[in-house]
Amino acid sequence: MPMFKSVVVILLALTSLFGAKVTLHDWERGQTFSNFLEEHNIPKKLLGQISDEDQKFLTEIQSDSKYYQLVGADNTLIQALIPINEEMQIHLYRDRESGEYSFDIIPIVYEENEYFANVEINSNPYSDTLECVKEEKIAKRVGQALKNTINTKSLAKGDQVAFCYKQRTRLGEICHMPSIEVIKLTTRGKTKFIYADEDGDGHLEGAQRTSFSKEGDLVHLVPFRDRSKKLGMPLRHIRITSSFSYRRWHPILKRYRPHHGTDFGARTGTPLLAVYEGTVSYAGWMGGYGKVVKIRHPRGYESLYAHQNRISVRRGERVKKGQIIGYVGSTGRSTGPHLHFGLQKSGRWVDPMKHLQRTSLNKQKFNKIVIKDAKMHKEKLVRLLDANSSTYVWDDTSTQSTRIGG
Ligand SMILES: [Zn+2]
Repeated sequence: MPMFKSVVVILLALTSLFGAKVTLHDWERGQTFSNFLEEHNIPKKLLGQISDEDQKFLTEIQSDSKYYQLVGADNTLIQALIPINEEMQIHLYRDRESGEYSFDIIPIVYEENEYFANVEINSNPYSDTLECVKEEKIAKRVGQALKNTINTKSLAKGDQVAFCYKQRTRLGEICHMPSIEVIKLTTRGKTKFIYADEDGDGHLEGAQRTSFSKEGDLVHLVPFRDRSKKLGMPLRHIRITSSFSYRRWHPILKRYRPHHGTDFGARTGTPLLAVYEGTVSYAGWMGGYGKVVKIRHPRGYESLYAHQNRISVRRGERVKKGQIIGYVGSTGRSTGPHLHFGLQKSGRWVDPMKHLQRTSLNKQKFNKIVIKDAKMHKEKLVRLLDANSSTYVWDDTSTQSTRIGG
């Protein structure tokens, strides 16, 4: 994607040319795009130039995420890069001649490198890892992967925790949570291999209902424990017309755009059901999403039901799981009657289909977790350990990165 890379190059080149400064900031909770324009004295007419389709993303800037801005010597904003998810960002830039601002949504350019660490247990995996890699996010991930697979209290002084992980960086700063590929645990002379899934939870090789596929993926059938805690479906009959994606090809706009939800085909007037008990946090018009209801649920979930024909709840109202909260429609930017259903977990958009329980699958006893390329990652880690490789971790003083493995 040479086109996208050039954005970063231009950003950095301008810095040295005009004495402009690139700075990193937190997008704080409650901050809005419109406030951001105001702060930088950017005329509000820009909002009117943003397509209906893209208006939606202005409300989807993730709080607590980091954004870059390039500010000129006279304090005018030259460029800003504001993430809307892990893959895409808003690109706001000022034309040097006319002084007019333009808006676009472009992929985030980041570097992804693999690292390796070999930690000796002294007190516990979390603090020993933290001391070794000097990065809290990685220590958290290691702790999480071990927590549900082994009894960490049984670890003894001198045990070894070796692991490979991937870390993304953007303009020299860590972005996103690191992902642990595989951990080799050596405890009291025994070795165990633990693999982390997309959510960071660990899966122990050789445990009940685990196996390797012929492609080398680890497959783990995890029993559903508490079914009553599962989120239900927003419609009685399910027909998926478009899936969740951090960046999908938009056939009409001919550009990449995120799709922060699942689309379900249904006739106008079909009842919409709350996927879980909760409190209505929003009920009304929301730009390209038309008539929208948002519900805040326990355990950090928030659900969104867009393009409604009619809303039947009010903000602040308590709702039960399965209660009718509105009816399918085609309001806002929509090509026909359907439900756009969005789901956030702890403020991040997640794929609803990974969290909703299909009623027709209620008899299903297990959740199938597949960890891609587990065998390959294991072999790589074993090779590194056999070669007595020294710990190689990311640190912000390193001027260049080298990759390990293949
Ligand atoms: Zn949609």
